[in-house]
Amino acid sequence: MITIGILNLQGAVSEHYDITKKAIENMGIEAEAISVRYADEVANCDGVIISGGESTVIGKIIKERGIDKVIKDNRIPVFGTCAGMVLLGKKTDFDQPLLGIMDISVKRNAFGRQVDSFESPISILGEDYLGVFIRAPSLDNYDKTKEDIKVLSKLDDEIIAIQQGHNIAIAFHPELTDDTRIHEYFIEEVLNCVE
Ligand code: GLN
Repeated sequence: MITIGILNLQGAVSEHYDITKKAIENMGIEAEAISVRYADEVANCDGVIISGGESTVIGKIIKERGIDKVIKDNRIPVFGTCAGMVLLGKKTDFDQPLLGIMDISVKRNAFGRQVDSFESPISILGEDYLGVFIRAPSLDNYDKTKEDIKVLSKLDDEIIAIQQGHNIAIAFHPELTDDTRIHEYFIEEVLNCVE
């Protein structure tokens, strides 16, 4: 039995919760999705999802509650979407508290403001997919000396999905679609970790 915690601090949390439950059902595995708000709850998770939202707000609460320390100490795999991607990085173009567990630097709002939100067909993990972009970040740079980093998807020349070890950062919002494939991919990573 594995537990996937949906970090419930701010942002599109309930959508992630619903799609994670659906992914678990599709996979037919022994797993649960729970909402987590404090460090001791996060400590009981095998994997954590950080939603889109406002990364400055989520980052501040993550630090205040010591959630960053628990994730790092227990090496809990994290899947971050949009604001979650910003938080996974070690650096952004803005001075803000970060979780900082991936050797990437992220450019916030790289695709423009809220009014510039768009959907676009993309290819990820060798499959066609619909990317929903809302004030989405892009990858500014990553540490090319790290062998455990792989680029998962690009839109034009911008990197929009990247993985390092068991951590996955994507710029768009799979939780706003009915498509569970990326969540299933993360849950597989979590299963690989606990085996
Ligand atoms: N631009 C936002 C941030 O950096 C992220 C937007 C989103 O998650 N939809 O916090």
